[in-house]
Amino acid sequence: MNNCLKWQYLLYISVLVFLSVLLRGAYDYHSHNHKLQQEIVQLGDQALIYHQDLQQSLIERYLTLTHHYANEQHVQRAFKQGDREALYAYSNPDYQRLQQDNPDLHVMHYFDPQNITLLRLHQPNNFGDDLTDYRPIVRDANQSKTALQGFEVGKNGITYRITTPLINQAGEHFGLLEFGIRPNYFVERLAARFELESMILVKTRSLGKLINDYQFDTLDNYSIIQNTDFFDSLNSSIDLSVERARLTVEGRHYLLLTDLDQSSHQGELVAKVVVAKDITDLVYANQMELIRANLVNLVVLLLLLAVIYYMFNRYSVALARSARALDDLSRIQDKLKNQANTDELTGLYNRRFFNLELKNLIQCQQTGCLLFFDIDHFKVLNDTYGHPAGDRVLMELGNMMRHFFRQDDLLVRWGGEEFAVFIKHIPTKVVLQKVEAFRVYVEENITQHQPYPVTISGGVTNVRAGDDVASLIERADQRLYQAKQSGRNRIVSAFDEN
Ligand code: GH3
Ligand code: MG
Ligand code: MG
Repeated sequence: MNNCLKWQYLLYISVLVFLSVLLRGAYDYHSHNHKLQQEIVQLGDQALIYHQDLQQSLIERYLTLTHHYANEQHVQRAFKQGDREALYAYSNPDYQRLQQDNPDLHVMHYFDPQNITLLRLHQPNNFGDDLTDYRPIVRDANQSKTALQGFEVGKNGITYRITTPLINQAGEHFGLLEFGIRPNYFVERLAARFELESMILVKTRSLGKLINDYQFDTLDNYSIIQNTDFFDSLNSSIDLSVERARLTVEGRHYLLLTDLDQSSHQGELVAKVVVAKDITDLVYANQMELIRANLVNLVVLLLLLAVIYYMFNRYSVALARSARALDDLSRIQDKLKNQANTDELTGLYNRRFFNLELKNLIQCQQTGCLLFFDIDHFKVLNDTYGHPAGDRVLMELGNMMRHFFRQDDLLVRWGGEEFAVFIKHIPTKVVLQKVEAFRVYVEENITQHQPYPVTISGGVTNVRAGDDVASLIERADQRLYQAKQSGRNRIVSAFDEN
């Protein structure tokens, strides 16, 4: 294989290799991103479920207590008699214990069936107020006599409320008990469980009177009622309409979940817990992994390239060697063929080859003339100057023939000091002039053994219909004989008129 081709193939392979590295890199990048996105979605789902579980376990805990109270004589009697002290004395130890158990419990509130406060365990001196217009969950729980839960803004801010009717054994509804838990309860647990930072947003229009008491930052139509420094750089990039997003802010990567909705007992969206996580390390770890994997790819492919290059080299060396061998072989073949077809002394064609060629030419209806000639008195030259001198004359004559006739003409040493030329494509008249000119050319220009004259006598004839090699040669030979007979150093022709 030649060098140029080798490099061309190597170039193609290199391009393929690098394309495959690129393709693999792009695929890896895509799948890493996809994996990360899936992790985000998974984390979002887990956080949602965990959030619901937290609510459910709160409900179970406080509902059980409320049912227990509803059947308790002390509570029933205190309600009947409006005995706030007795209710406080009975409930306060439980309230303290519950608060110890859950510091985010900050409301334990008794109402009568008309939504009037009987007792606030968290503010025992504040009672007797009618909350019908301010606290829909209280009004609705009393009206429907069913336990309701949900987020609702009260005097002390947004609170998760579990508001349950007190119904005794006789099925008599005699009041309400409400437990209120700060949203912090959920936020802290989510943070602990999933290493999340969070902030609490409340629909600005749900804030009611609180809006007058505090100054809140806002996000869309929400007020940020609780957050951490963590969100300072993020707030301007948060889009609440995207539930689970990846954010990149100032070179750091964040995961953001905005779908931890806090609804009222009527299912109305009141607040949101927005949680975020700094996943920069995770992203970098992913990127490093990506780079490492691709470097490994690249190294493997480079090794492959080296192997291919090595194989190419070996292959091309072997191929070059066999190409050389083939060349040598065909040269030897040419040489042998040449030797078989030519006369060694003069380099002209030999009789064998001439006969074959002439036969072909006649068969193909090739027109042409055959000149047959013989050196005059060659024996004398040989005898006088020696055989080697005769050889030199033969060689020079061969050269003169090559010089005088066209490449297309067939030149042959017929044998001894006899030669022939088959002249193609020329009208007989011109041929006669030409062979006559040749005779003169030899006589005047041969250099060997001057002034001993070296002349030739010849016969010339054209190919006629029905001729074969033998008849053609015989006719030329007859004219040669006539030339010798009539005094030598001349050409005798035998052309038919056509
Ligand atoms: P003519 O004019 O009648 O042709 O007389 P000639 O002497 O040329 O003819 P002849 O046939 O008597 O002699 C031919 C001579 O050519 C005899 C032979 O020694 C010589 N001869 C033939 N082949 C070679 C050769 O290869 N080398 C040399 N030096 N002489 C050769
Ligand atoms: Mg002779
Ligand atoms: Mg002779």
